[in-house]
Amino acid sequence: MITFSSLSLREELTRAVEELGFETPTPIQQKVIPHLLSQPTDIIGLAQTGTGKTAAFGLPLLHHTDVAQRHVQALVLSPTRELCMQIQEEFKKYGKHMRGLKTTAVYGGVPISGQIREVKAGPQIIVATPGRLIDLLERKALSLDQVQYLVLDEADEMLNMGFREDIEFILKNTPEREFTWLFSATMNNDVRNIAKRFMNNWKEHSVAAANVTNENIDHQYYVTNHHNRFETLRRLLDFTPGIYGIIFTRTKQDCQDTSEKLMRMGYHVSPLHGDMDQKMRSKVMERFKSKALQAIVATDVAARGIDVNDITHVINYELPDDPEVYTHRSGRTGRAGKSGICMSIVSPKEISNIRQIERIVKARFHRSDIPDGAEVVRKRLFHYLEQIETAKPKGDFAAVYQQSIHERFDEMDKDELIRRLIWLQLKETIDAYQDAEDLNAGYENKGSKGAASGRSSVRLFINLGMKDGITSAEKLLNFITESTDIEPGLVDRITVRDLSSFFNVSSSAAEFIVATLSAKKFKGRKVRLEEAEQRSDRGDRPERSGGGSRGGYGGGRSYGGGGRGEGGGRGGDRGSYGSRDGRGGAKGSGRRY
Ligand code: AMP
Repeated sequence: MITFSSLSLREELTRAVEELGFETPTPIQQKVIPHLLSQPTDIIGLAQTGTGKTAAFGLPLLHHTDVAQRHVQALVLSPTRELCMQIQEEFKKYGKHMRGLKTTAVYGGVPISGQIREVKAGPQIIVATPGRLIDLLERKALSLDQVQYLVLDEADEMLNMGFREDIEFILKNTPEREFTWLFSATMNNDVRNIAKRFMNNWKEHSVAAANVTNENIDHQYYVTNHHNRFETLRRLLDFTPGIYGIIFTRTKQDCQDTSEKLMRMGYHVSPLHGDMDQKMRSKVMERFKSKALQAIVATDVAARGIDVNDITHVINYELPDDPEVYTHRSGRTGRAGKSGICMSIVSPKEISNIRQIERIVKARFHRSDIPDGAEVVRKRLFHYLEQIETAKPKGDFAAVYQQSIHERFDEMDKDELIRRLIWLQLKETIDAYQDAEDLNAGYENKGSKGAASGRSSVRLFINLGMKDGITSAEKLLNFITESTDIEPGLVDRITVRDLSSFFNVSSSAAEFIVATLSAKKFKGRKVRLEEAEQRSDRGDRPERSGGGSRGGYGGGRSYGGGGRGEGGGRGGDRGSYGSRDGRGGAKGSGRRY
């Protein structure tokens, strides 16, 4: 295993990355860092956000920086304010043991006077948007005369945003520049043009798209008719109470409209698109980072610079036109070793697009059912129960109110009290989902894996789920295929829940699978499978098989149910982040909706 200490970085940097918990260099870092340390040349790095590219160029830049000198030695150009700030923050973390190091970020949208002071204070490294840098140059606030290293980060994006002339101006005005390092998610003619005119004997390093779409991401798609798209989004949000996500739309207008609709309904979301000014965008990002927002609704361009590591879900409200863009979107989740889910809402006609994206992303996509009303209520109920279980009320709160609460409810039966509290908590969801319609569509169009999805298929229940470490459909599929030796194509429509999962298999294989898997153990637990009940209103629609708390809403008695759905005594979904019902989320008290 390659480690950071084997890279010959200066000791202060190795120590800092180790303290940050980085264990091994990412693929782009492994390719680029040794090269830029020993014999630096010009390079082109084809890598996207999330691959560790900032450290790939940042660590060598810091390594070569002479902290004893107080002039600008390295310049990083980046398309947006957000990215500039992120890069500078990363640099600060990596360079924290380098005494005398000063890095400054300059970008538009904020008063220039403070930045003039900063650049005059003698930073060795400046991270800048091209426009603001030129402003500062024109005001003679700084000089680039001694810049040796110039990094163009997200070059394709800077060119897309119309910075070509500014970039060329800066490239022409760095007379002492020895090395130019260009990073770009994609290679196109504009990028090539810049390289040809301003770079020498560059070496190219790329991390393939397949590596970028990492295996920690579970790709799911939900099929509904076009007119039910928004309702499906809502249902998925409600079904995912701990979500911390990004919802992608294709246009700015859709972004604005969808987000406004969700906000009116009480969801904590905000739009992020190019028509918003810098100040508004920063504000949205601040709220998102502090988790005051459960999701942002974004266009592709606006989302480009978002660098948040713990995004749990990416939702494609609509698929992108370009399958490559899907990779960018899904890569926002499943980062830094965490698992993530990318959900796409598609119409029956778009199932073929999913197949196309599957080939490009080189990952298997799983069709999942849009949950019905009872499932949503059940999920939120168990999420709430988990919040109660893990809540830690402040001591003084209890002391102040204990007496009066006690007096007031002394006579009331405990079960009755719990029932009422839960009812109050969930009644909006219960009302909203009382007669919720079935949003699933397109079952007549089975896509390429008809074998397991057709009428000759059987829906099976298995007693393994997220809490057992089956964190994705892919993992369940691997377990099934490895244990039984059946072809992966025989299994489809995998739905992984917290404590259990469902999947379809062709009926000819069902008996064999049940018999074989039932003889196995998973992490010491006996595996149990059985055929799930089928609903009479649609032949192949799954229903949770019997047992315990099926009722969900209405009766209000389901909280103690012990059913084998995702509740079943072990609690609901994992998230603790503030939720639609969530008075007890991470951000504390108060109704968030
Ligand atoms: P980037 O692609 O530069 O936007 O980096 C994505 C995230 O991964 C950043 O938050 C980095 O701090 C983090 N990161 C970079 N390199 C590593 C590494 N070798 N191991 C773990 N995390 C890393």
